Amino acid sequence: MTLRRTKIVATMGPACDQPGVLEQLILAGMNVARLNFSHGTADEHRQRAVRIRELAGKHGRHIALLGDLQGPKIRIARFTEGQVELKTGAAFSFSLSHPKDAGTAERVCIDYPGLVTDCNVNDELLLDDGRVVLRVEEVTPDSLECRVLVGGVLSNHKGINKRGGGLTAPALTDKDREDIRLAAELELEYIAVSFPRDAADMQLARQLRDEAGSDAWLVAKIERAEAVMNDEVLAGLIEASDAVMVARGDLAVEIGDAELVGIQKKIIAASRRHNKAVITATQMMESMISSPMPTRAEVSDVANAVLDNTDAVMLSAETAAGHYPVEAVAAMARICLGAERSPSLRSSSHRIGREFARQDESIALATMYIANHFPGVKAIIALTESGHTPLVMTRIRSTIPVFAFASSRATQARVALFRGVETIAFDPSCHAESQVSTAAIDTLVSQGSVQEGDWVILTQGDTHHCVGCTNTMKVLQVQSKDGSCQG
Ligand code: PGA
Ligand code: MN
Repeated sequence: MTLRRTKIVATMGPACDQPGVLEQLILAGMNVARLNFSHGTADEHRQRAVRIRELAGKHGRHIALLGDLQGPKIRIARFTEGQVELKTGAAFSFSLSHPKDAGTAERVCIDYPGLVTDCNVNDELLLDDGRVVLRVEEVTPDSLECRVLVGGVLSNHKGINKRGGGLTAPALTDKDREDIRLAAELELEYIAVSFPRDAADMQLARQLRDEAGSDAWLVAKIERAEAVMNDEVLAGLIEASDAVMVARGDLAVEIGDAELVGIQKKIIAASRRHNKAVITATQMMESMISSPMPTRAEVSDVANAVLDNTDAVMLSAETAAGHYPVEAVAAMARICLGAERSPSLRSSSHRIGREFARQDESIALATMYIANHFPGVKAIIALTESGHTPLVMTRIRSTIPVFAFASSRATQARVALFRGVETIAFDPSCHAESQVSTAAIDTLVSQGSVQEGDWVILTQGDTHHCVGCTNTMKVLQVQSKDGSCQG
């Protein structure tokens, strides 16, 4: 059986709450469940978190939970009639003082005071993920007077972006601070920060996370033009995070869809270079919201992200609100497996000729060099405390599976996001020191991942349960059960 290396993040929502659906999503291959804090109540998120962990436990799966903060998305207020139709060529204005629930086809309130200072004449504003486009013709102290370039229906609370970026609301709102506390309570493995502008926004999130008592890894959602305009800002953001999301929904609106593909490749490559995991998100299987089959273009989009070496591909409304959530996960799993057969993904010349920064990084990369060049190697065993060593290993392209042997529940779940990494629940302190390697290999033999005569590479630290202490690599041959020694 070929293991799928690319992981699947599925967003939770009403569609997953139907009887049996969550369990089927798990069986179809969901690796990470995304709790979207832009929708739903704290209680709904609590219940889903508990049920996912119960069901994962029932099936012996390890699933990471990711809480996605709403962030400072700037939104229009409401229309008297709930929605209006904007005609191409018509005049329309955004006003700070217009009554909040009395929008019309001429005017709507937006209660973000920065709007009039952040915008200039000729700026383009995009509403509802770019479906409606307006150009600013006049800026007054109270309003933006605009012309509709692309008309359409506009309904209550739709989000607004500026082409080229520059609507600069601070990244963490009061609701986000509350949701970070909820993430701590639920012991989520990941928290995604929406619309971070730079490393400082991630540092603030990290401080709030620490104050809340959470050890979640922080995901920077790259979704502002400012974050990708300048290589240093992008590198700083990635460096200040534990993982990255190519948040294509908002990013495409700000930078334009044509540039997105190139930027996606750049973000994925930069994330891998910095030893971070990376998720490719949004509209990957959009048509599967209402159709049981993906389009050729969607198949191609998912496969291309796999060929770009993303750790994970993400489903949003497809699983949260679509008619075919299970089919969407199953189709994604099938496409990832197919794309992973591509010869370009088999080995890597990456980092040859580079200096390594840490002992565990050195061990991880030396391991991959052997794994990709010694044909007998069938598995890598990383005895890991935090998951960092298997993360670094899988920044290097390979077909050899990395088994993260972890004793902590959080690490077991967290590594579910990493490309090519499988979790094995394992506590080295339950074995005599001299028996740890044998016990680890026996686990792989008994689940059929390796057999007698195969080679495995095992990494560990002299001290177990110590983060960053991996300093040892062994190349071992799997012996018959009664064999007395290995290697
Ligand atoms: P969102 O983030 O779905 O929370 O907006 C993802 C994206 O922008 O692509
Ligand atoms: Mn977004």
